[in-house]
Amino acid sequence: MNRKRVNNVILIFIDDVRAGHLFELIENGKAPNIAKLAREGISCQNCVTSYPSITFPSYSNLITGSYSGYYPKEGSGIPEYHYLTRTDPPSEGSRYPKIINCGAGSLYKLNKQLGPNCKTIFEQVEDENHFSSCNIVSRGSKLISPSPYTTEVILNNVAKAFNHPSEFDFSKPPIVTVAYVPYTDHLMHLKGFDHEDYINELLKCDVGIGNIIKTLKETGYYDSTAIGILSDHGNYKAKQLYNLEPYFNEIGLMQYNPKKGTGDFDAVLGSVGFFNFRGIDWHHHSTIDEMKKYKLSMAGKKDLNLIDTIWKIPGVKYMYYRDDDNTPDKGTIHLKYRDEKDIIHEARIEFEGHGKNQKTSYIYDDLDIYGYENNEQSASLLDGKPHDINEWLEGTNHVDFPMIIDQIPRYLKNPRSCDIMVSTLGEYSFGFEHGETKPSSRYSHDICLRKSMIVPFIIGGTLDIPSKELSYCKTTDMVPSLLDLLGEKPHDSVVGKSVI
Ligand SMILES: [Zn+2]
Repeated sequence: MNRKRVNNVILIFIDDVRAGHLFELIENGKAPNIAKLAREGISCQNCVTSYPSITFPSYSNLITGSYSGYYPKEGSGIPEYHYLTRTDPPSEGSRYPKIINCGAGSLYKLNKQLGPNCKTIFEQVEDENHFSSCNIVSRGSKLISPSPYTTEVILNNVAKAFNHPSEFDFSKPPIVTVAYVPYTDHLMHLKGFDHEDYINELLKCDVGIGNIIKTLKETGYYDSTAIGILSDHGNYKAKQLYNLEPYFNEIGLMQYNPKKGTGDFDAVLGSVGFFNFRGIDWHHHSTIDEMKKYKLSMAGKKDLNLIDTIWKIPGVKYMYYRDDDNTPDKGTIHLKYRDEKDIIHEARIEFEGHGKNQKTSYIYDDLDIYGYENNEQSASLLDGKPHDINEWLEGTNHVDFPMIIDQIPRYLKNPRSCDIMVSTLGEYSFGFEHGETKPSSRYSHDICLRKSMIVPFIIGGTLDIPSKELSYCKTTDMVPSLLDLLGEKPHDSVVGKSVI
């Protein structure tokens, strides 16, 4: 049993914050309350999130300390924010796989979609006294929605749970509190990371955190409480938007209809794209051969080579898909990279084991497609041998594509994940979903470059927390670190490790 250093933990999760941006505000004296927590406790300006760097799966990973994966055994069931509910073997529940879209007002369904074999931070602490002040993955806690729905109220409700717990029907302050601030993400997409409205929302978070610290001090809880601050992903501005609808219409690729089981594909594309195709039926994934000779549903259309078709999308630089013979425990992911001269280079990831025991090797033919060879530390992992997540983190936290070799298999092992994944690295963004181009912004997040992958990680509060700056860590380290401070052991599914 670990030494119990605190009685209460508060995790404040601010959506869509690049580490560099928050630490700049701290250095300029604009976020004095967050600065104090960072200075007196543990801080890291180089915390690596999950890939794809999209709110889902990154969000559920923050709350569970694990990743997407083969969720009946380990990992969360959430591969991304838009996915098909196919399982392998196919579930008998529905005739055709549903399309789950976490952006369409059905967010709270995610608590159910999250598999039973990974646990939220609340479920990992033997107590029922847990509080969510606005939290999409709130399983195991009492959820209070803010009214009105503002950053101030979300954070002030945390303070209220300590000085007036009875207002939320708690007899004493909650053991684990999670507060989720969504507006920063909303403003980042709408106006950009460089806009004053986005920056002001971050400053409001600092004020709210200051109010929480003040309340904890007045009520005598500060010395026995840890406050964690974390984000799910950073951000970037895509070079251009592009409408793909005419292209898919021209080749006759028709949108999948989950009510009738008709159509040819379901895809969602920002700068990173996810394509779902029919296998022997919609419950099954396509094999590579099926994707190379794909039967279209529109009469009179010839079979289509989907891989060639997808390479014709402008700006596609990377393409990933799984091998046909993969099992959850062992398999191969095919990686392709198109260079500036239009030459396609091939590489692969071989994976073995799962959860914290997953090991992956990166093997390439003529070119190291992630440029790891240009850096001494990352180059040391180009030995073709299996490495675990901590070795990938140590070797690649300071370059672009941090931990990508570990992350792609975790994503593609999930039976709900797509068949072909692509990335333009932010050159083109498509805003494509449900067969249509939607109004979209160039400000986004999803790619594996550092600006989208590196987030702030801070744990402060009681002076019993050691004061140190970490040169790197990962977002899934937050849950086991907070559990460590509470003297609790993390669930087996947790992949992160305590930084205390
Ligand atoms: Zn987000």
